[in-house]
Amino acid sequence: MGGERTAEILVAGTGPAGLIAALAFAKAGFSVDLVGPAANSQDRRTTALMVPALKFLDSLGVLASLEHRAAPLRAMRIVDATQRLIRSPVVTFYASEIGEPYFGLNIPNSILNEALETAVSSHREIVWHRSLVERWELEPHQVRALLADGTEITAALAVAADGRLSPAREAAGISTSTHPYPQAALVLNFAHTREHGFTSTEFHTETGPFTQVPLPGNRSSLVWVVRPETADELARLDDETLSMRAEERMQSMLGRVTVEPGRQVYPLSAILPRRFAQNRVALVGEAAHVFPPIGAQGLNLGIRDVQQLVEIVALNRADPGASAPLSAYDRQRRPDILARSGAVGLLNQSLLSNLLPAQLLRSAGLSMLGGFAPLRALFMREGLKPGSGFSALGSLFKPGFPPRPGAH
Ligand SMILES: Cc1cc2nc3c(=O)[nH]c(=O)nc-3n(C[C@H](O)[C@H](O)[C@H](O)COP(=O)(O)OP(=O)(O)OC[C@H]3O[C@@H](n4cnc5c(N)ncnc54)[C@H](O)[C@@H]3O)c2cc1C
Repeated sequence: MGGERTAEILVAGTGPAGLIAALAFAKAGFSVDLVGPAANSQDRRTTALMVPALKFLDSLGVLASLEHRAAPLRAMRIVDATQRLIRSPVVTFYASEIGEPYFGLNIPNSILNEALETAVSSHREIVWHRSLVERWELEPHQVRALLADGTEITAALAVAADGRLSPAREAAGISTSTHPYPQAALVLNFAHTREHGFTSTEFHTETGPFTQVPLPGNRSSLVWVVRPETADELARLDDETLSMRAEERMQSMLGRVTVEPGRQVYPLSAILPRRFAQNRVALVGEAAHVFPPIGAQGLNLGIRDVQQLVEIVALNRADPGASAPLSAYDRQRRPDILARSGAVGLLNQSLLSNLLPAQLLRSAGLSMLGGFAPLRALFMREGLKPGSGFSALGSLFKPGFPPRPGAH
């Protein structure tokens, strides 16, 4: 492209978080320059997006093209498949218990990315530079990005949606704490002979969770967390052997399993920045938080980053990248991000740990959730949206709670 441009908002990164951020800022009336390659059509993962995230996508006009290609999640089950001394009971959460038809939709990432790409490409207020930021220059009153294609963009605020290694985060001088896990996720889709009943099952094993999530028809997606060397071994198996291994792990819960072509392996780690905004750069998505794929939290959290950033910046239109809105963003995102990263990290560690206290704690927590409906409802609401579980606590003291006893 080349040349010089000025925008109010510069979004770096064209993963789902960046594309959603560009759409949300444009909808709020800002001029947006977006930098990043074409959306990834080869991502074999699926993303379970919960109802609040879906409502936000709907407000951006992208939900309608996704709904019929995704599967609703009506129930979520946790099965302790460890061989340990202390094991937890099976816990099942039903959306109907909290009066919802479903918790969310499981959407193939290739379909989500395609829908977002189409919406961004057809938006008149977004200029998409299909290039990379090669260098950042952060000044007191503006940011400047120098792109690989020679274009130079200045903006009041840079939104760093440039992923876990986030060059924009580094340029802003934000350090991170990083923790690689001895785990990798094998990701694939499979067909099965029994119906899934729109239930997702997370088998907890000593190496991490094995999570089946429904897709339309008699199909599901799988995230199988194991040691990195095991993930590589599994990925190299022929289809028939891998299908058998997956079926065994699921205790034939869905009948005969047939894996579909296309397997990917994702090494797992946790990354947490010390701040979520600084020096005219605000972090969203994996630039702001990376943790293992347990309980479908990552992009749901990333969408809340975008929502909150746009809300704050819309109140500070005179200078969207000034230190006051960025401090407010840092302050407001901190509790949600720390709570989710902390909870997922703890649960993951408790699976890996051979220590009795860690196992006891996990088992006690799950037993309590299994046996006490109000606590389960609180947990489910909190899982959908922070604060909504605790605000619903008041209903504990109202007649008619818990809702619909015996719904499961
Ligand atoms: C196995 C697995 C399963 C998951 N399942 C779920 C789930 O069910 N539900 C859920 O909510 N989350 C889930 N997640 C998390 C979710 O996938 C991530 O939160 C999400 O993909 C992060 O998107 P992102 O846009 O922040 O980052 P990315 O998708 O990594 O995008 C980063 C973008 O930045 C671009 N970029 C990098 N450098 C530059 C540069 N210099 N200039 C411009 N652009 C640049 C890259 O090209 C890329 O486009 C899962 C994660 C894994 C690993």
